[in-house]
Amino acid sequence: MERLSGSNLIIVSNREPYEHRRLKDRLVCRRTDGGLTSALDPALRRLGGTWVAWGSGEADRGAVGPGAVVEVPPESHSHTYRLRRVWLSRDEVKGGYVGYASEVLWPLCHVTLDRVAYLKAFWNGYRALNHQFADAVLEELRERPGPVWVHDFQLALLPGLLKQTAPDTRVALFWHIPWPGPDVFRILPERRELLESLLAADCLTFQTAGYVREFAECAHQFLGAEVGRAPDGVQYRGHMTKLTAQAISVDFRSISDMAKTAEVESLMTLARRRLGLGQGIRMGLGVDRLDYTKGLLKRLWALDTFFTRYPHYRGKFTFVQIAVPTRSEVEAYRRYREVIRETASEINARHCRGGWHPIEYLEGRIGFSTLVAYYRMADLALVSSVYDGMNLVAKEYASSQVDEQGVLLVSQMAGAADELTDALIINPYDPEGLADALKQALEMPEEERQRRMSAMRRHLQMYDIHAWVDRCLHDAGVWSDQR
Ligand code: UDP
Repeated sequence: MERLSGSNLIIVSNREPYEHRRLKDRLVCRRTDGGLTSALDPALRRLGGTWVAWGSGEADRGAVGPGAVVEVPPESHSHTYRLRRVWLSRDEVKGGYVGYASEVLWPLCHVTLDRVAYLKAFWNGYRALNHQFADAVLEELRERPGPVWVHDFQLALLPGLLKQTAPDTRVALFWHIPWPGPDVFRILPERRELLESLLAADCLTFQTAGYVREFAECAHQFLGAEVGRAPDGVQYRGHMTKLTAQAISVDFRSISDMAKTAEVESLMTLARRRLGLGQGIRMGLGVDRLDYTKGLLKRLWALDTFFTRYPHYRGKFTFVQIAVPTRSEVEAYRRYREVIRETASEINARHCRGGWHPIEYLEGRIGFSTLVAYYRMADLALVSSVYDGMNLVAKEYASSQVDEQGVLLVSQMAGAADELTDALIINPYDPEGLADALKQALEMPEEERQRRMSAMRRHLQMYDIHAWVDRCLHDAGVWSDQR
């Protein structure tokens, strides 16, 4: 891995890549889960630089030096980077992060409009949160000037705030979630402020070309900004913002290598035994945060329809659902979790026979090698999001399918469907169509399964997470060198 010496790249995200906790009398440092950390931690270790993020760990304050900076990861002597922590007040977390970001922007951008729970006070919290981040980044810039790469919808006001004080700093932003059309975005009372701040950036990157078009349309309708033809840029008040689309990806090579290890093979045997998957029982898999955008309820209804329509699959096909609790501080998420649990157990009661039941519902986080074992052993994986910026589970499943026997089913509403065209593309709103797609997957000839999976794996090998980082930084004009 080539390291660029003296790189001063500054990555900014709400969530931090490493958290400190106190275990008895010891401080322990743990890498946080999730797609953003797995994508960007290797990149910063390769490039060097600083990551600015909210210090959310219970023992974070005790681990930092001057400027709230700590060198991470702790076990590494080379290939480390600076983590500069931002301290947020209760109101900034409650109003800005939980309120405006999670209860307003998240459902709005995912077009689940009944879930938008807007309060004006949230906006004040969101502004305060963004100001805290801006202060930390500006302090970093004073010490080590460098390009700034901002991540996601919690920090939409950051480009504007940074450019006010440091107009010559190169600022790029990656928007991880969908961008809605003007008919939806107009719901937001602060639409102009958000758009104006985003257009202060030099480069804005979205997951798909469709989201780029929607953003450009919003900039045009609500600000009267001039939009380039492609649209590959927006001109507003004399400033040009480049617009690009780069689909986030996974570390194909390391996941694929992990799937072949003896450890994963023995985890597969263990899992089959624990799940009671005897000879001849096929397995389906869903892996999701317990988030309403993942369409878990619609998925359960489709499974109910499947076992009603095709009763000969009772006792022959088990669907394993790994459900990871998330945002439990938001009431809507707690209710969603209850409904999912109840629905799964009703469906199990309806179709069970002997010791077999159709849905194995496993709630909680699992380690990555266990996850890869589930991915490799699953005969099919189902992504039924009602809207999803990308969906990394779909890409991780294909990366783990080293035997090329499995079938991937992806919602037409997930960014991944644009890219993984050899998956079975499903409509989460159509339970009967989805039940039939499950049957099609289970009955697909081996040669077709292999052809589809092999094509997806070739694509992911080429468009992996490292290529994504390089292309985003290239678009942002941060570096012109490719790996
Ligand atoms: N994941 C995890 N722990 C688990 C289950 C899943 O860290 O117990 C990870 C999974 O490997 C994937 C991410 O959570 O990288 C989910 O990403 P995705 O894009 O599918 O959805 P998101 O949760 O970001 O909306």
